[in-house]
Amino acid sequence: MIGGGTRVAGIIGWPVAHSLSPAMHNAAFRALRLDWIYAAFPVEPARVEEAVHGLAAAGCAGLNVTIPHKRAAIAACSSVSEAVTAIGAANTLVPDGAGGFRGDNTDAAGFLRALDEQAPLDLAGADVLLIGAGGAARAVAFALRGRGARVRVANRTAAAAAELGDPVPFTGPALDTVAGQSALVVNATSLGLHGDDVPAELPMAGIGRGQVVADIVYRPGGTPWLAAAAGRGARTVDGLGMLLHQGAAAFEQWTGQSPPVEVMREALAAR
Ligand code: NAP
Repeated sequence: MIGGGTRVAGIIGWPVAHSLSPAMHNAAFRALRLDWIYAAFPVEPARVEEAVHGLAAAGCAGLNVTIPHKRAAIAACSSVSEAVTAIGAANTLVPDGAGGFRGDNTDAAGFLRALDEQAPLDLAGADVLLIGAGGAARAVAFALRGRGARVRVANRTAAAAAELGDPVPFTGPALDTVAGQSALVVNATSLGLHGDDVPAELPMAGIGRGQVVADIVYRPGGTPWLAAAAGRGARTVDGLGMLLHQGAAAFEQWTGQSPPVEVMREALAAR
């Protein structure tokens, strides 16, 4: 029952109605019998700072930030973590005890947790091909470099790949060659979000047994690219794992409680 003491957490995005986070966090609150709710707030791009300040003023107990607000939210935070500074994006805002929010980025840790859980590999000195150079890709690059991996970046807009470091060609046989040389290949673009076909831009010919392939795009049942990589013998890591673990890390920061990860996983699987 929602009452006078109910704490309110939520997510801002534009659009945000498709978000799976409300189902995941509300299931977790129910499981731990916490008097909390989690809502989705559609916030126009021009109103991000206003929304964050307003939610802080209204006592919001925790916020997630999703596309396209992860960079803009930083300006509305009273302070940010080292991860946010390095990545340039915040996905988790935590009350700072003084009426504002401290910004953090749990996407990076969430990606590593999913990798460790689904297809563990020694990243120290490992060659990684990262496809994409947006906010999520920057979080993945930060996470992987933190473990000592050598990350090469392919992106449609070459300048963004160069900014993230060690650029390689986007698509074609040259990309297949780099993919074949990599212990881990990660798709951090939004390619594969829709449709039943493997996106032609993503590498496939170089992928096979002995490699790990991770797709941060989340779809029930996984993406066609991930299914094709599994069919070629690669170990795979899906985007739902990253979504789960970034959410679990946020939940822990807001509530101070150990997150009921299996309950959260089931809530995602049921969507
Ligand atoms: P973003 O900052 O907008 O970046 C989008 C990336 O995708 C850029 O590298 C962009 O390339 C590329 N891209 C978009 N459309 C493309 C196309 N038609 N062809 C080739 N490249 C294309 O978004 P983001 O926040 O990084 O998110 C990227 C994806 O990751 C989304 O699908 C999002 O849902 C997912 N994600 C998942 C999780 C999770 O927990 N599993 C967390 C965060 C994000 P350009 O630079 O050339 O535009």
